[in-house]
Amino acid sequence: MTTYGLLFDYEYCTNCGSCQVSCKEEHAYPVGKTGIKVMTDGPWKIDDEHWNYNHWPIVTDLCDLCPERTNAGREPICVHHCLANIITYGPVEELAQKLAEKPKQFLVVPQFNPIGSREKFVSKKTDTHKAAHIEVEGTGKASYAVHRHDTKVGEIDENEGTVF
Ligand code: SF4
Ligand code: SF4
Repeated sequence: MTTYGLLFDYEYCTNCGSCQVSCKEEHAYPVGKTGIKVMTDGPWKIDDEHWNYNHWPIVTDLCDLCPERTNAGREPICVHHCLANIITYGPVEELAQKLAEKPKQFLVVPQFNPIGSREKFVSKKTDTHKAAHIEVEGTGKASYAVHRHDTKVGEIDENEGTVF
């Protein structure tokens, strides 16, 4: 079975927000939920002449790759509305070839609703340090998963989250 994903050429992401707005409208996601969110790092100086300033469009666990559109041969709505044309949808093998062609890109295969898709997560670890899946399962309130391996379950802030 072909696996599909998204390739982001984040070098040219302008943080315009069109991907997030169009994703939310397409899926009727309410305030606080989205399939994609743009993160920013910078600006901060690398040296006297150069700055670090990057925008990263990050898919969430509510990215379903727009099946109603893609099953009909259309591109996902975020791809359609990206003003800088930096998002490419397709089979991961094809996207991986594009990934090798230039730096400042990343390739992602979203997993829509991962807990529901994979059923109950069973940790194989015996110590108190758990992965993000346990955080979500333990609180039942987190709307996204942060991959953080240094947190004990008892230390999780149930109210921790992001408003967007
Ligand atoms: S592919 Fe569809 S669901 Fe995923 S981020 Fe883009 S618009 Fe949202
Ligand atoms: S629509 Fe494109 S350029 Fe705009 S924030 Fe999203 S990924 Fe970046």
